[in-house]
Amino acid sequence: MGKRVRVTGSQARMDETLIGGHVSIAGGLLNAFDNAIAIGANFIQIFTNSPRVWKSSVVSDEESARFRQELAGGNSGVRGLVTHASYLINLASSDPELLGKSVRVIIDNVRSASKLDARGVVLHLGSHKGAGLESCLDRIKPSLLAALDSATQPCRIFLENTAGAGGSIGTSFEELARVIEALDADDRLGVCLDTQHLFASGVAYSTMAEADAVVDRLSKTVGIERLGCIHFNDSKVPAGSLKDRHQNLGEGLIGGEALGNLVSHPSLLGIPLLLETPGGGSGPRTLDVEIARELLRSGIERRAKLVEDS
Ligand SMILES: [Zn+2]
Ligand SMILES: [Zn+2]
Repeated sequence: MGKRVRVTGSQARMDETLIGGHVSIAGGLLNAFDNAIAIGANFIQIFTNSPRVWKSSVVSDEESARFRQELAGGNSGVRGLVTHASYLINLASSDPELLGKSVRVIIDNVRSASKLDARGVVLHLGSHKGAGLESCLDRIKPSLLAALDSATQPCRIFLENTAGAGGSIGTSFEELARVIEALDADDRLGVCLDTQHLFASGVAYSTMAEADAVVDRLSKTVGIERLGCIHFNDSKVPAGSLKDRHQNLGEGLIGGEALGNLVSHPSLLGIPLLLETPGGGSGPRTLDVEIARELLRSGIERRAKLVEDS
């Protein structure tokens, strides 16, 4: 009986797990909802500015009012969102001009996100260029604080773990935890776990025990309560390659079973899963969202079987 209750409990929490992906806002912010419907997503990630140019702006009051109305109305099925900050941002830069531009853009990104009722802004902190994290904390701390304080409504910043190329900050959970500690464990800071970056950084998790060890380390460093969303991606490149190359779920070198083992961990159930995969070339499709749900479901089943067998 006890075993059955466990399985049922996990099933219920799986049903609460929001699954979706990064969607385009080309042609207007409200198009995000149509794009979510088209792939069966009930959670989305969007850019509020082009992520590869320095020009940024804050969404207008009119745009934000229409967006929030659509979100609250619930007709699209979208139950929440995060935004993704610009890729150009480097809050660790020792170049004052680059640092200044980075702070201006992240402030705009956070203002926009808060005006859209996003749960948070996913951010790659940037690179220490080999100088080490400690030497940059004096720049990261005031920059992040300025960004957090610019929110017009409660909105968090989710620091994303990185694949590790070029001295990028956040390649380990310890580094992310160190940044959070440097900001006196500010409640407005969370993390985003990217399954591809994790793998590329050298953390393989093919067995259930390895998957459990990942979650254990995350909880002992950053803390699971700070996990705001999971970027659910397979990998085109091997473990330890330090390269950020996403692949469709089940078609890459991590593989569907390992991905399912990780996201089915009881502590992660209920954390939104977001696909940033190529799909057929223009981003995640309905099929990919269905595969994500299936990988989660089969992971939960394998875990239940392990409990039964033990
Ligand atoms: Zn990601
Ligand atoms: Zn990535």
